[in-house]
Amino acid sequence: MKYISKIFQPLIVSPRNVASKSHEISSNSQRLMVDLGIVRSTSSTGLFALLPLGVRSLDKLTAIVHAKLNSLDALQISLPTLVSEDLWIKSQRLQVAGPEVMRMKDRQDRRYILSPTHEESITDLIASVSPLSARQLPLRLYQIGNKYRDEMRPRYGIIRSREFLMKDMYTFDVDKNLSMKTYEAVNEAYEQIFSAIGIDYMKVEGCTGTIGGTISHEYHYPASIGEDQLLECSSCNHRVSQEQLLSLNEITEDNLSCSKCGDKNLKKTSGIEVGHTFLLGTKYSTALQAFTIGSTPLHMGCYGLGLSRLLGAALENLSTETELRWPTSIVPFTVCIIGPKNGSKEDKTATPLIEDLYSTLTKSLPVLHDDIIIDDRSHLTIGKRVLEARRFGYPYIVVVGQKACQEIPQYELLDLKAETSYLDKSELISKIHDLTKTLRTFPNQNYMDTYSVSSDVLTENSLK
Ligand SMILES: [Zn+2]
Repeated sequence: MKYISKIFQPLIVSPRNVASKSHEISSNSQRLMVDLGIVRSTSSTGLFALLPLGVRSLDKLTAIVHAKLNSLDALQISLPTLVSEDLWIKSQRLQVAGPEVMRMKDRQDRRYILSPTHEESITDLIASVSPLSARQLPLRLYQIGNKYRDEMRPRYGIIRSREFLMKDMYTFDVDKNLSMKTYEAVNEAYEQIFSAIGIDYMKVEGCTGTIGGTISHEYHYPASIGEDQLLECSSCNHRVSQEQLLSLNEITEDNLSCSKCGDKNLKKTSGIEVGHTFLLGTKYSTALQAFTIGSTPLHMGCYGLGLSRLLGAALENLSTETELRWPTSIVPFTVCIIGPKNGSKEDKTATPLIEDLYSTLTKSLPVLHDDIIIDDRSHLTIGKRVLEARRFGYPYIVVVGQKACQEIPQYELLDLKAETSYLDKSELISKIHDLTKTLRTFPNQNYMDTYSVSSDVLTENSLK
């Protein structure tokens, strides 16, 4: 059983104390996440501590990602965060990399970067076992880990921080056509991931930038603080980032027209980029000599999802100025149960019903296993705890109060998206069942259980 009193969740109540220094707060979601104990600012600008509720949410998000990538037969790996500068010199990326790349040296004066992305590292790994035969391809490898970018102006909390959680995937195919097929399959998986999260997103044709390649798509959450301008043609619905459109046509911002049909009527939206896919071609495999049989460079793709940023952007997109709102798919707890105040007249009768309700709910609705929290801070009034629960954004709040003392106990169900209702126990269970039946069994369901690893990946080389 999970109790709010046992959760490490330092709340910041007004007047704001030092931890929520207003000059560092630059977005709604950041302020709410800090005030409600989901993340905490550290003494360094642009670096945040994720607290238990933030980690729970990210665990749910990564479980969605693992499940979808697993369905693509992608395999998880983990590459070192420190990458030798030599590798980035070979790919000629260090020469053009700006000061956003974090650099460091070890005690022997060897120079490293704290990797913002791993194209060089993965290509070097594959080069060390190359050539790969057609039978070993396609190869799809991904990792989930922290990445670094020395932002000139970190802001909006975990939306633009200097250390962030990323899912990065790299794919290898024998030729251009097959790598295009992979690119399409991964983009389809991305669309499924975004649908599973459940917030309206925008997919646009994007810029390949310093990563390189030939085709690129970006995934955005619309938000007023978004720093990317997205354009949608009102005639043919083609969607493109403004940056990409400007790079295609040598025109000015005031004179934009659709690159597909020429229409000048383009609808503009501000977005926060949360995913990016690139068809890379052979840029890295040529530079770092990752080959298939016959010394032909492998065709690559790379695919990023900014997971901590996605969480921040989702909250930015959904929340009001005073209340957090989560996608139900990744809220830290789906149901919050609130009982009577200690010593109140309903205390004796209603309090024992809470544990009974908790165990009936988890037994009859396995989807809620480990996903219900009890607000046991019974020194506070029900009203105060309901306000806090609404502010935090638990989608379903169950109050076990005065009406629970009736002959047939009535429970109050506050659904943040609907009217409040009073229900008896069986009605409550069937109502919550209806509301949560589309959720997956989360969290901490061991996704490894569902892994089906294709056994001969790379065995050819290891047998040589
Ligand atoms: Zn058009």
